[in-house]
Amino acid sequence: MADTATERDAVRSAIENVAARMADEKEYLTDLDSAIGDADHGANMDRGFRAVLEKTDGMDEADAADLVKTVGVTLISEVGGAAGPLYGGSFMSASAELSDGVTAESTVAFAEAFLEKVQDRGDAPVGAKTMVDALTPAVHTYKKSIEEDDLEPVEALTKAVDACERGVNFTTPIRAKKGRASYLGWRSVGHQDPGATSTLFIVEEIQDTAVEYLGDGDLEADAESPTVPDEEPTPEDGEPGASE
Ligand code: ADP
Ligand code: MG
Repeated sequence: MADTATERDAVRSAIENVAARMADEKEYLTDLDSAIGDADHGANMDRGFRAVLEKTDGMDEADAADLVKTVGVTLISEVGGAAGPLYGGSFMSASAELSDGVTAESTVAFAEAFLEKVQDRGDAPVGAKTMVDALTPAVHTYKKSIEEDDLEPVEALTKAVDACERGVNFTTPIRAKKGRASYLGWRSVGHQDPGATSTLFIVEEIQDTAVEYLGDGDLEADAESPTVPDEEPTPEDGEPGASE
């Protein structure tokens, strides 16, 4: 991406955005988990990311990898249940991929390591109605977009968000085979998986943060040649909305 300070700012900003999103979606995630689990996923993610904010707050000299590792360590220690160790373990071990900086290449390696760790720890294949169903298409799409389609990281992330969203939707009609929801057997059918949903929120916030830091593809060209012409002001007729 750029220098260590910019990468640090970007990662901190991503952490803040994810934490704010988890706070906003706390009830929604808990509602999803109350249908097929024990109604704690929203509280778990919110509590975890609040703790992450506290832990990363004073890390003014840290680099991207240190920050992401702290996210993982904190989630493991603060969040019980399935999701804490799964997300935490993945953030922790995949953080090493960012130790030489945040680039298209290193973020692909990060994403792959993240997915691999979730699978190592959770042993859930695609189709078991877990976060793996959202994470797998997101990671594969990101990797392909960067490595085969030569897209910019922000465009690749936009594609990854799309794929992730389809993965979340895919969890609804299928039967849970891993995690607490699997105890319900066929009764888990028809409910969206909470962990897949929180995965989508994380990927969306990372994409949003990337747009903030990198622009949506071609920032400089946009700035110099605006594609939206200045509107002619029409102050006289006082139409509603025209005064802004
Ligand atoms: P718990 O189920 O222990 O209460 P959470 O409610 O925080 O933990 O998280 C539930 C989510 O964890 C599920 O919606 C699912 O996406 C994910 N999950 C559960 N078990 C696994 C697993 N073995 N592999 C991957 N993800 C899993
Ligand atoms: Mg739960």
